[in-house]
Amino acid sequence: MNTNGQSPRPACFEHVADEQWNDWRWQLKNRLSRPEDLEGLVELDEQTREEIRAASEQFLMGITPYYASLMQEGDLTDPIYLQAVPQGIELARADDELEDPLAEDTYMPTEGLTHRYPDRALLYTSHNCPVYCRHCNRRRKVGDPASALGRAALDKAVDYVRQTPAIRDLLVSGGDPLSLSDKKLDILLTELRGIKHLEIIRLATRNPVTLPQRITPELIEVLKKHHPIYISTHFNHLRECTPETELALNRLADGGCVISNQMVLLKGVNDDPAMVKEMNRWLLARRCRPYYIFQCDSVEGVSHFKTPVRSGLKIIEELRGWTSGLAVPHYVVDLPEGGGKVPLLPEYLVSQNGQTLTFKNYAGEVYRYVEGDEPKASIKLVNS
Ligand SMILES: *Cc1c(COP(=O)(O)O)cnc(C)c1O
Ligand code: SF4
Repeated sequence: MNTNGQSPRPACFEHVADEQWNDWRWQLKNRLSRPEDLEGLVELDEQTREEIRAASEQFLMGITPYYASLMQEGDLTDPIYLQAVPQGIELARADDELEDPLAEDTYMPTEGLTHRYPDRALLYTSHNCPVYCRHCNRRRKVGDPASALGRAALDKAVDYVRQTPAIRDLLVSGGDPLSLSDKKLDILLTELRGIKHLEIIRLATRNPVTLPQRITPELIEVLKKHHPIYISTHFNHLRECTPETELALNRLADGGCVISNQMVLLKGVNDDPAMVKEMNRWLLARRCRPYYIFQCDSVEGVSHFKTPVRSGLKIIEELRGWTSGLAVPHYVVDLPEGGGKVPLLPEYLVSQNGQTLTFKNYAGEVYRYVEGDEPKASIKLVNS
């Protein structure tokens, strides 16, 4: 980490003045959106350019210059490149792939709101994200202005939350809710805070990773008015852990937000236990708690990123016991067709013989433990 709080910039961005580079509006306006824009970062042959063009017709290409500057120059297997630059392989279709893998649109009582679990719901705000992640499981909507919620639909969705006392936790997602202006976000949060039964609001945003400049002191002032605000962000690789993201996390935490991370497990990007361990420690030391590792969903155009479940279990195995429990996330599969999230754990219970259980601990050593009896029918609790 260098001392001036800035990641080193590749030569093709050296001409940009710091004032512009640090301005999130400049970053958004100057997003890379065509294969030609990658010139100076990677060398592409004509066929690769054609593939990028074809894939970005299915799902837009959009990369902030900041995020692009994290790419290793010339490396087509770079984890930042793979997450952000479209690939021809996205056009291949596998049998299990679905457009809406989690059936989010089926569980919509009103446009833009998914209510699947008893006490929490998911609200879609903007269709926009600073970077269009190639693994996005909402690629059917994200980037498509026609999928953005109009004012009337948003009012209806907020009304649904107001009239549904069971909802005590609302995830505000998208796209990315920080694509809204501070003013619009303030208005939305004020409305939501007017709902008595809503205890917590979560903002699901990748801005701290892909556009950390968006986390301004002015934004923090808005968020502070509406606590408790939880931030779910989405770091996938240690290379995303920069002085800029550190500043963004610091501002959010100092502003009283509780921050957690949701990583998506991606083949060739982060199926690497040692890297994940280091990343999670880095995040934890910056008050961002690793919360979920998601098995890659069966989304159209994303199967090249899918790993075996074994890879996810291996990561958990190499975290649990070896580093702070606070840095060990839940590894989950979000089941197709709206089955919801189910957690997966490596097997620590080796066998059971009567009341004697045999365990293997994190280091592979074997231990026995004798469990208690079942409650006897004849034992009555006082007052029952
Ligand atoms: C993931 C998700 C939630 C939140 O789940 P938690 O386990 O509480 O983080 C809520 N609604 C939907 C539709 C989800 O996919
Ligand atoms: S930030 Fe999230 S919603 Fe936006 S493209 Fe990436 S994964 Fe999809």
